[in-house]
Amino acid sequence: MKWPRNCAGALGSRNYTQRMLHPRTETVYCRHCGATLSEKAIEGTPRPYCSKCGHIEFFDPKVAAVVVTSLHDMVLMVRRGVQPALGQWSFPSGYVDRAEAVEDAARREVMEETGLEVRLTRLVGVYSRTGISVILVVFDAVVTGGQERAGHDVQEVGRFHKDDLPGMPFPHDRRILADWRAGRGRDL
Ligand SMILES: [Zn+2]
Repeated sequence: MKWPRNCAGALGSRNYTQRMLHPRTETVYCRHCGATLSEKAIEGTPRPYCSKCGHIEFFDPKVAAVVVTSLHDMVLMVRRGVQPALGQWSFPSGYVDRAEAVEDAARREVMEETGLEVRLTRLVGVYSRTGISVILVVFDAVVTGGQERAGHDVQEVGRFHKDDLPGMPFPHDRRILADWRAGRGRDL
């Protein structure tokens, strides 16, 4: 089985799992006045607080796009070239840039990681969990072009039968796979 090969890919990719921890722990200084932040309970939730200028730091979640790309019964996966889960197989995925459409981010990440162009066919679902700062938006897709090659933070691009996928390392993987296999979600 061959995937279409007719165009080169772009470079660069982000990894959505590296910043799963709450970013509160990474913030030390007030973005307005530069004073050292302390912590204060705001409506019951402890948040970084600047006692000098009164600024309260609210953190946005990170949004990542995940793409389950298939051809017939084969699923496109990448062997991760970065931590965490270095060397393990997962779906192409990455962070959505600010002001970037989620759909564009999904297509971009597949291109960056695999060199392949895809058409998104279904919004499979949105996945989040208490205590994890990343929200996943998962798409189903088909390959429409491109030239397969591993992106810079990917060790290898592979295809696996949908009923015989390798074990995957991340919290939502099992549910994503179940929803994808069942055809859940909304067609695009
Ligand atoms: Zn301040």
